[in-house]
Amino acid sequence: MRKEEIHKLVEILKEEFPKWKAPIVSLLAYKTKSPFCTLVCALLSTRTRDETTAQVCEKFTQKVKSPQDILNMPLEELERLIYPVGFYRNKARQLKELARQLIDNYSGKVPDSLEELLKLKGVGRKVANLVLAEGYQRPAICVDTHVHRISNRLGIVKTKDPYQTEIELMKVLPVEYWRDFNKLLVAFGQTICKPTKPKCEECPVRDLCEYYKSKSL
Ligand code: SF4
Repeated sequence: MRKEEIHKLVEILKEEFPKWKAPIVSLLAYKTKSPFCTLVCALLSTRTRDETTAQVCEKFTQKVKSPQDILNMPLEELERLIYPVGFYRNKARQLKELARQLIDNYSGKVPDSLEELLKLKGVGRKVANLVLAEGYQRPAICVDTHVHRISNRLGIVKTKDPYQTEIELMKVLPVEYWRDFNKLLVAFGQTICKPTKPKCEECPVRDLCEYYKSKSL
């Protein structure tokens, strides 16, 4: 996809975006303005429905403001607090280890570099980039399954996995779009460009889409 087409694509999606719902972790990051809450909510949201994540994170962020709060909380209480998100035993243990790591190695602060974030317990590139983009408002592209799938369908990249997609997107996507790209494509992927049966006939960017063009041939 050419540079002008990428600009056009993002601008169309931005125009459409207010109609759609921002991902829950982005909303919470915006509300709390805290990299710590962004990190914890991103981890809690793994394999969990948005509504459940929202309810649990709302309660969690009222009670827990720092890694020390997690360490001070008895494991059973922590498990009860996050129980609805599922896998609560693993996630509670993971939070305890994460809190210990943050206190021991980072003076209780969430690091603000990709390299250091990736050293944290249970943190992969997706969560690390989300923390940078939403928690620290730094340019970073959080590539989840929506971003990977749609970037390939549109023809912005031709990649096999989210890591390759992240690297290729950083080469072609103007930096000013990096932070919002995940939000736009998650909303777009949940409503129009779904994993199966994308709603191409309703799609506002179909004229730019390689997949659509190849289907119409
Ligand atoms: Fe997705 Fe279809 Fe739109 Fe292409 S035209 S971006 S495949 S919904």
